[in-house]
Parts: sequence; C-alpha cells; structure tokens
Amino acid sequence: MSTTAPQKFEFQAEIKQLLDIVIHSLYTEKEIFVRELVSNASDALEKLRHTQITEKEIFDDKAELEINVTTDDKAKTLTFEDFGIGMTRAELVENLGTIAHSGSKQFLKALGEGGAKNTNLIGQFGVGFYSAFMVAKSVKVYSHSWRTGEPGHLWSSDGSGSYEVDDAADLRRGCKIVIELKDDCGDYAQDWKIKEILERYSAFVSFPINLNGKRINTIQALWLRSKNEIKDEEYTEFYKFQSHAHDDPRLRLHFSADAPLAINALLFVPKDNSEKFGMSRLEPAVALYCRKVLIDAKPKDILPEWLRFMKGVIDSEDLPLNISRETMQDRSLIEKLNKVVTKRFLKFLADESTAHPDAYNEFYSEFGIFLKEGAAMDYTHKEQLTKLLRFESSLTDKGKTTSLAAYIGRMGAEQKEIYYLVGSNRASLESGPYLEGFKARNLEVLFCYEPVDEYVMSNVREFEGKKLTAADHADVQLSDLPKPEGALSAADTKTLTSWLKETLGARVEDVKASDRLVDSPALALNADKFMSPQMRRMMKAMKKDGADEPVKVTLEINPRSAVMKRLFETHTAAPEKAKLVAEQILDNALISAGLLEDATPMVARLYKLLESV
Ligand code: ADP
Ligand code: MG
Repeated sequence: MSTTAPQKFEFQAEIKQLLDIVIHSLYTEKEIFVRELVSNASDALEKLRHTQITEKEIFDDKAELEINVTTDDKAKTLTFEDFGIGMTRAELVENLGTIAHSGSKQFLKALGEGGAKNTNLIGQFGVGFYSAFMVAKSVKVYSHSWRTGEPGHLWSSDGSGSYEVDDAADLRRGCKIVIELKDDCGDYAQDWKIKEILERYSAFVSFPINLNGKRINTIQALWLRSKNEIKDEEYTEFYKFQSHAHDDPRLRLHFSADAPLAINALLFVPKDNSEKFGMSRLEPAVALYCRKVLIDAKPKDILPEWLRFMKGVIDSEDLPLNISRETMQDRSLIEKLNKVVTKRFLKFLADESTAHPDAYNEFYSEFGIFLKEGAAMDYTHKEQLTKLLRFESSLTDKGKTTSLAAYIGRMGAEQKEIYYLVGSNRASLESGPYLEGFKARNLEVLFCYEPVDEYVMSNVREFEGKKLTAADHADVQLSDLPKPEGALSAADTKTLTSWLKETLGARVEDVKASDRLVDSPALALNADKFMSPQMRRMMKAMKKDGADEPVKVTLEINPRSAVMKRLFETHTAAPEKAKLVAEQILDNALISAGLLEDATPMVARLYKLLESV
C-alpha cells in the first residue's frame, strides 16, 4: 500500500459535540479515562487472539499479549501501549473520527433527552476513547495494524475539532497512546496515582498490565472460572481482595445464568453484620462488571436495599449491548439483573436452611434483621423471605428456632392464627402474664426480641393464609378452660370488676374477667388499637405527637387468683387499703406490658401498703 502525506480531518459533528462536553465538563471522576483506555487495549488484545486462530501472517507475531502503562512525571505524559490488533489508516479515521461507539452514542442520546447538564453519565458507562480528552492537552495514537502490508500511523488531536493522520515508522504491532496532560491534571503522571486507579478498575483484566514495568493485576476474575476448579482458599483470597475485607466469608454463591441475561456472579455474605455494632448503614457493595472491567463498584439498584450486606461481583456481558438499545432512564436492564440475582440468592438461602441448618441459623442470627426488613418492605420477595424467617417460641428450647412453616405444621386443626409476643428476652416473655393462657391451651407463641419485630410482624401480616396475631392484643379470643374449684363466682367477679373500674377511674378503659390468665392475678391489654407499647416508646423517643397522652389499657383480672379473692374480701372490709392494692395491681400489670411510664407514685404507695403489714 502506498503511503499518504499527513492528512487533516474534521471530527464528525456528533464527536465535536461529545468532545466539547467532555473537555468542558466539571465531571470530577476524570480517572475513568484510564479504565476506558485499558479496556480498549484489552479488547484489541482479545481480537488479536481471535485473529491468530484464523490468520497465518500476523505483523510482529512475537509481541506479548500485554498492556504497558508508563508515566513520565517530568514530561507530564502518560502512555498506554498494547500489542493488540492495531488500526490501519482507514480504521483510525473510522474508529476515532466517527461515532461508532455504543457508549458515546448512548451518552449523547441521554443528554439530548433532558439530561443536558447531567455529566455524571460520563462515568456511568464511559465515553470510551474520548474520555482521554478530559485530562489531555493532546492525544497521540501510534498504531500498526496486525496486517503485514500496512505501514504504521500516527493519529493526533488536541480535541478541538480536527485531527491529523500521518505515517509513522518503526512501530510495533498494536497501539501506543501518548497523553500529554493538561496543566491541572499533572497527577496522572504519577506512578502511585495510576497504580491506584488500575487496581480499582482493571484488577481483573485478563491480560497482564504492567505499570512502569511492574505487574499490576495478579488476581484472576474468579467469577468467570468454573466452580469445580476453584479451591476454598482461592475464594477467600478473592473475597478479601475484592471486598477489602479482613474476615473469612460466611457464605458464598457462585453461579452463572444465560437467560434472560448472561450473568456471572460471585456473591459473599461476610462473617459479621457491621450494622449490628451501631456502625453506619451499609452501602451497596456488590460491584458491577462487564467482561472483567469495572463499571460501578457500588451500583445502587443492582440488588434490593435489604441485600446491602452482600459483597462480590456481578458481571454481565450483555451490559453494553443492551445499554445501547435502551435509554439511560430505562432501568429495565438493571432491574432484570436485580431480579435474577435476588431470586437466585433467595433460593440459595432456602437450600442452605435445609442442607446446613446450623450454618443457616448462625447466618440468621447475624443477618436475619435484613431478611425481616425485606419481608416487611419488599413486596416482590415477601413470600420467599417470610419462609426464611426464624423465631424462638414457647415450644422451642432456648436458642433454638422455628420457621413459620414448621409452626403451622404443629398447629391444631382448630387454631386459625399464628401467635407472637414481642419482648426484650425469653425470660421476660415466659414470666410475664401474657403467655400462660396460651400455654394452658397448648397454643404455641413465637417470641420476638427485636424492636423492629412489631413492625415486621404487622407488615408481614399473614403466612400461608394464617394471620399473624399479637398474643397481647385485646381482640384475641381464647377458648374456655374448665374453671378450677374455689374461683370467685360470676356474680362476685362482676362486683369486683365494677368496683375496680370505679376505683381506677380514668386510668383504665375497662376492667374484665379474663380467659387468658391461669396463675397471674391480672394483665393489662393495650386498648389503643393504633399504638402498641413498642410504637409508643418509639414515638416518645422521637418526641412525636400523641406519645404523651395517657396510656389506655383494659385490665383483665383472674377470678382464680388468690390475690383477687383476697381483694374481693378487702374491698368491703378495708376499702382504703383495697384501693391501694387495686392501684398496685394495675401498676404491676403495666410493668409487665412495658407501659408504666413513671414509677415514682408506685414507690410511695408500696411504703403505705408495707406500713399495714
Ligand atoms: P468502544 O470501545 O466501545 O468501541 P471507544 O470509543 O472506546 O469505543 O473506541 C472506539 C474504537 O476505537 C474501538 O471500537 C476500536 O475499534 C478502536 N480502538 C480504540 N482503542 C484501540 C486500541 N487500543 N487498539 C485497537 N483499536 C482501538
Ligand atoms: Mg472502549
């Protein structure tokens, strides 16, 4: 082929527009140009590898398939060299002078669609080769095609509207891109700076990357390898490297899918839940890759909020392809990824819970709070998540848990609801007055110890057609139990409840005889349909309206209790003393219900009662 004199070309109008935005944008993460140039180099090497299979004659056939990056702090230049397929003169003009690049096209389209000043889009999927002009005064591309009959060329531009192509002698195969840095971008000529960027974005590129002669990428993109070739230690090493973690992962899920998207994912659950220690809320940390090149280290919507404890990598080669067909505003691609991965992870957890119940329970005690959050808030996955919930109950041993499905399996035919109690720990729930009526009737009650449980249970609402019901709710109806000998008669009970209602006055909404008490003398039921004790405490803490109104409770008394029988006698014999006892019974019930707000009057009253002993 004949050589041609230096030629000057105008950039295509769209490229001029793109360059104008890239050069003048205040986009802060300019560093992505490194990722773009390295991924172009990696693509070119990959293409060469394919070409080598079919073509016999390849220029500079001995050149290593590697990428060399060099910095020159004195000259303020940065060079990217690869021994890939390279470009002919025509290809330089075609590829670097017209807009073929999917990402750039998409970028312009998104800008046109109202995103005008939204230069954040530059980083989202890259503006390819042109991103170099964010930091470059001038860019020189020395290139020699793999084709043997072609001479080498130099493409150069300052990004201002035109570029030149000239012949160049003594080139090796591939591309050498020399960036002369802008005065305020001199940092990019520093070894440490480029090292940091390469490690962040290009750590898993398959070809060796050398920075000033030193190999940068030594860890493999494990997620693309076949599961049965990978040792546990390799997974752990990868997890530590990729997640900047110091622990060993607790669980891992490595899978690939072909439809509806090509996905390779390697996900980890860390050992500990750091949110548990009052640390700040976790940020999404499953990174999004496209063919080993980082797209986003912390993509927001790639997984649901409640999976924010996950680490690892999702790689989809469909990303650039699909992105070019869809607008940026159209989140459907990300949504699809989210759906596939979430579904797989939920299935994985369900399998774990049966295959390795102990490991699952350990996981649950650490991360169950996230599953609860999901069950309460993520309607799409509510059902699968609810199946994964675990609780201690009145029928489990301390520290052992049950699923809702297992609870239903144990229910008698006549039981229609799933009962639960919220309290601070097992001992307080077991010794409180609420459980005994359920125990006496062989009804299992789930124990919930976390403050959010109240919210979770009322949002989950039902499971397999069975309503989740708070055992301390005023509406709970329990079947009759045979009345033991010596209980107060119906008439005496009625007299006593009326007297109590009158005596306690505004402090109670109502006083009733109870079915649910077996041993305890009395219990308080929250008569406020709209505010549970837990909610009241929360609102008080947040100083919300309504929290200061007096608590309204229904007092239920146990006609079988010795205390009540005694009170019945005293209320006529020694009315003053009986009044003190009545007040104290109410306070005791409020304490068990977590509703006593001020204990001071109680102390004075107790002393009065003690005087009469
Ligand atoms: P994309 O990589 O998405 O195609 P770019 O703007 O990054 O878009 O690059 C435009 C084109 O320039 C590439 O498709 C490729 O044909 C060519 N190119 C860029 N860098 C190189 C390189 N190092 N070696 C060979 N060709 C390259
Ligand atoms: Mg590119």
